[in-house]
Amino acid sequence: MRADVAQPAPAPVAPSPGPATACTALVKIYWTATGEVHALKGVDAVFPAGTVTAVVGPSGSGKSSLLRILAGLDRHTAGTVAVGGVDLGALSAGRLRSLRRRRVGYVFQRPSENLVAHLTVGEHLEVATRLKDSNPDEAVELLDDLGLRHRIDALPTTLSGGEQQRLAFAQAAVGRPAVVIADEPTAELDSATGAALLEVLVALAHRGIGVVLGTHDPAAVAVAERTLYLRHGAVQAEMAHARHLSVIDAAGRICLPPEALALFAERRAVMRVVDGRVEISPP
Ligand code: ADP
Ligand code: MG
Repeated sequence: MRADVAQPAPAPVAPSPGPATACTALVKIYWTATGEVHALKGVDAVFPAGTVTAVVGPSGSGKSSLLRILAGLDRHTAGTVAVGGVDLGALSAGRLRSLRRRRVGYVFQRPSENLVAHLTVGEHLEVATRLKDSNPDEAVELLDDLGLRHRIDALPTTLSGGEQQRLAFAQAAVGRPAVVIADEPTAELDSATGAALLEVLVALAHRGIGVVLGTHDPAAVAVAERTLYLRHGAVQAEMAHARHLSVIDAAGRICLPPEALALFAERRAVMRVVDGRVEISPP
């Protein structure tokens, strides 16, 4: 190779979006006066950047526990959890707070919990911009994207429930966090307002943010590219790219969907590996 001939620049490698947040073998135990509650029993999950992921499951299945840990709002008991590649378990309380401020947006269920009564829409975003050292132009862009520009001088009490939630998401998305996490964000909205909010979430994902929603709302599941089904503190199944995937844990256990479980009254199964497929049937 001659050194004096300019070599063509190597083709740019598309950056892999990577996980916005991920957890392995995640366990959460609450110690209460009446005993231990095992809320999460070894959850392995990846939440990709640029993607809306819905976390669904019956009440008590561990959705809120998982979301609070992913957001750095609560500590896990065992396992690992990372946000933007940073292992949260290794962080001191101060560093966790700082990571939460810069890399995580969190939206609470009740619109009033996310907002400060005496700050206008514009002031909410100004505060978020300052806290996150972000570019002020970004806040204006977010207000445009989220359809709130015309409400810039409004106080939260004069906003509709849907506008309040959109403001909460705009505020959460300032500074391009790795992940925006929301627990039941459409629960207190009517279906039309909820649908408009879901469009906003998709727009945030298009900005490269990983969006994770705890939800009971079928409309939210419909917009999500991925859905994680939690049951009794474990991931039972995952829906990705329109395929329903059962989850196999590190010990090889598979959680059967309820309709399949109904076939195994004795809770014993015969398994055979045939031509690269596994057949499972009652004894
Ligand atoms: P979900 O959001 O799916 O309803 P949660 O994560 O709120 O589930 O709850 C999972 C389990 O953990 C439930 O049994 C719940 O009662 C229990 N739990 C949640 N938070 C606490 C807490 N702070 N203290 C004790 N138990 C809790
Ligand atoms: Mg909950």
